[in-house]
Amino acid sequence: MANEIPYKIYLEENEMPKSWYNLRADMKTKPAPLLNPGTREPMTAEELEGVFCKELVKQELDNDTREIEIPADIRSFYKMYRPSPLVRAYCLEKKLGTPAKIYYKFEGNNTSGSHKLNSAIAQAYYAKQQGLKGVTTETGAGQWGTALSMACAYFELDCKVYMVKVSYEQKPFRREVMRTYGASVTPSPSEETEIGRKILKAHPGTTGSLGCAISEAVEKAVSTEGYRYVLGSVLNQVLLHQSVIGQECKIAMDKYGIKPDVIIGCAGGGSNLGGLIAPFMGQKLRGEADYQIIAVEPASCPSLTRGTYAYDFCDTGMVTPLAKMYTLGSNYIPAPNHAGGLRYHGMSSILSELYDEGFMEAKSYRQTEVFEAAELFARSEGILPAPESSHAIKGALDEALKCKETGEEKTILFGLTGTGYFDLVAYEQFNNKTMEDYVPTDEEIAESVKTLP
Ligand SMILES: *Cc1c(COP(=O)(O)O)cnc(C)c1O
Repeated sequence: MANEIPYKIYLEENEMPKSWYNLRADMKTKPAPLLNPGTREPMTAEELEGVFCKELVKQELDNDTREIEIPADIRSFYKMYRPSPLVRAYCLEKKLGTPAKIYYKFEGNNTSGSHKLNSAIAQAYYAKQQGLKGVTTETGAGQWGTALSMACAYFELDCKVYMVKVSYEQKPFRREVMRTYGASVTPSPSEETEIGRKILKAHPGTTGSLGCAISEAVEKAVSTEGYRYVLGSVLNQVLLHQSVIGQECKIAMDKYGIKPDVIIGCAGGGSNLGGLIAPFMGQKLRGEADYQIIAVEPASCPSLTRGTYAYDFCDTGMVTPLAKMYTLGSNYIPAPNHAGGLRYHGMSSILSELYDEGFMEAKSYRQTEVFEAAELFARSEGILPAPESSHAIKGALDEALKCKETGEEKTILFGLTGTGYFDLVAYEQFNNKTMEDYVPTDEEIAESVKTLP
């Protein structure tokens, strides 16, 4: 049987999932609700609908419906780049000399270069359904803004992206991809919003931050007729949409009678990991099967491994609702590192709750060891991985090398979230050996956590 497993396991179009799987339905303890920062009461649908699209608010608050149908228009879009390949890493296994069987689900197969398109297209669809003119968002490294601009182009919606100024200047290529898909891209902080003007006045010459860009995007959405704000990670709805990743894996693996022992993903806000593990975690929660599940984060931004489980703001500007999550404090500014998508102070409430209950583990790695893993992977499997994704690669390599020592033939599945073509400055530093590792001290984390509301 083992010999019959192809390098790439594809699904037929008619085998693709027709609904998203809502993991919350199988959680005994539901993730904690978002709170209104003023009243400390759970946010109502009405309050959320001022900021987010109506149907997405419904999904955000729905802890009970197990299967939510994927609208036909979204399924058609998915068919343009999905199913994404599930690859048996034969070449990597050989290189490592491990008895482990390694599989990865590759989400870098679309122009945006990451899994973020899976949720972007869903969010754009519901905005269109609601008859909106457009959506606003922020982007740091640029992957989410790119995915959203593609999704908005498809549904002919306006897309307004506030891009952290330092990225806007340093990553002109991402910016141009977004503009090519029709998005308007504004460096943040900007003169366009009240909060932007206030920040510019207080900190002339600032190069911006994600927290500030979120505040501008939210302000623009709530103050412009026919606009809503959309977010690319962390929220329950985003994990819901990303469940297509895990469902495709499960269907493909079931077809060949493969059962993973270990499932590994990188974790920024938790959307790809939440999506990858969803159907497997569901089985685990229902007591039908067991899997070892590992979240991998950067040592420079260790929210699960060193954070506190508490209510916190989702942004630095403290304008968003409070979410209960493993957090380093919304003031935490991680040292500059090259995994932009993993530089978030908090973690999805769903994953935070599951981690707190012991249903999954977490690990962190330093930047240079992550790039060493990326290099080994690129040289054996051919794909140039995103720095974010390389955290999961590093996690998988460690598990495979453990198997080499013990002789165990474990099956390892990891999520390869994207490609690294826009991260070549990072690779340049790695190749020049000028890359630095930064790990915060306990004091620094304690200082930041002190500011929790
Ligand atoms: C955004 C991003 C991540 C991290 O986001 P999650 O919400 O934690 O999945 C990981 N990999 C890539 C390539 C990304 O663009």
